[in-house]
Amino acid sequence: MGIAPGKYHIWTVGCQMNQADSQRVSAMLDNLGCEPAPAMEDANLIILNTCSVREAPELRAHGQLSLLKRAKENRPDLLISMMGCMIGNQRTIDDLKKRYPVVDLFFKIEYADILPKFLEERWTPIAAGLGCLDVVEQVGEQSPTLLPILNSPVAITPKPAAREIHYPGNIAQNRKATAWLPVILGCNKVCSYCVVPSRRGVERSRPVDELLREAQTLTENGAREITLLGQTVEAYGLDLPGAPSLSQLMAQLSGIQGLDRIRFMTSYPRHFTDQMIHEMAALPKVCEHVNIPVQHGSDAVLQRMRRGYDIAEYKILIEKLRNWWPGVSLSTDVIVGFCGETAEEFQELLRLLEEIRFDVVHVAMYSPRQGTLSNKWEDDIPYAVKKARLREVEIAQEKIALEINAAYVGSEQEILIEERKIQEKGIYWKGRTRSNKLLFMQDPKDGLDLAPGDMVIAATDRSSAWSLQGTYLRHAQEHAAAR
Ligand code: SF4
Repeated sequence: MGIAPGKYHIWTVGCQMNQADSQRVSAMLDNLGCEPAPAMEDANLIILNTCSVREAPELRAHGQLSLLKRAKENRPDLLISMMGCMIGNQRTIDDLKKRYPVVDLFFKIEYADILPKFLEERWTPIAAGLGCLDVVEQVGEQSPTLLPILNSPVAITPKPAAREIHYPGNIAQNRKATAWLPVILGCNKVCSYCVVPSRRGVERSRPVDELLREAQTLTENGAREITLLGQTVEAYGLDLPGAPSLSQLMAQLSGIQGLDRIRFMTSYPRHFTDQMIHEMAALPKVCEHVNIPVQHGSDAVLQRMRRGYDIAEYKILIEKLRNWWPGVSLSTDVIVGFCGETAEEFQELLRLLEEIRFDVVHVAMYSPRQGTLSNKWEDDIPYAVKKARLREVEIAQEKIALEINAAYVGSEQEILIEERKIQEKGIYWKGRTRSNKLLFMQDPKDGLDLAPGDMVIAATDRSSAWSLQGTYLRHAQEHAAAR
């Protein structure tokens, strides 16, 4: 028996921005009366939300598309759609169409409003068989229109200069304690290895009233912590005349009753102003954690990466963050094996990590991406060398994180509970400290009267490089009330 129309499955890879986008699309489909299906086999609408930042997630998407091609041979009513970073410009879409005619709709998140129309047409028998559809910008129209690709293959993406942004305002009704709020889309930087600007377009900030409204709704739906998202999140407002800066936006969000924590990511060093640091540090709801990718420890490599700053500048920023924002924790991203990375340049990276001592380091091996500047250069570091360097970073960082986390033992931490976990060794409550450390509290007799969304105080008993383990002490209402 076939699957009744209305069951959807969203497959998501990549960063928090992609996950936030998937949540919005899912909420939109729920509002249309559709139901999420746990597996692709149970769905008749499958949306692949893709990532192009590295080769691995792209390969995974290609793998899914090959499987879906076969699935569609047996289930011709199956609708397949693609969104995310693999949907770049018209050229990338054309390439994908040629390779995977099985895909019915390519869309960017700004054009997700097209989904109701698309489903109405495709799930109504008379309109079936139109072939692949594009989302088309119509000059002077608010929302995009569907056209059969066979008649008119036209661009799906806004023109580079187009500043308007339309991000779906649908918010999931689930009662999660934490939520994402994309505040700025796209990126204006020119990092030589990065495909994001060409795939996600220029920086476009969302209007502040829209963000305040959404944050209010998220809080009413149960979120106590909201993470403001952007590829270069401190660029928020720079493209909107009269808009607040990121820290000023945070001040406005701080007025929302019931919202206890505000986080933000990802930082771009040059946009983080002194004023912002002071303002954020003075806002009690803003958590003391900054994810600020350095990407490398060598000025020469940073130059080849076109990151737009040098190590001296980066170190000054870190010093300011630590001096002006007590207790701030720091995470970073680094790439090993970038084009021409010498053994000495790699040592500079290790030395920087030893010197700054980040709480967390996300390390990746360089992989060339089509459409980037560095793709024109020789990818000359052998895979085995890249892998060995990645491992060296992991080992160095593990030792640092172990030492940093050990200093938490004996302290009391405010924890926002996110999840109850049943593991082999018993029942645990998982939450995070304000500094973004994972903390697990054991519930030996399953007797703790806790729930996701509770803010509690825990004693930190033990630590590892990756997390803290603690004991529940009491609820933390008095902390929240104090804010
Ligand atoms: S700042 Fe650089 S690495 Fe980050 S998204 Fe923009 S171009 Fe990519």
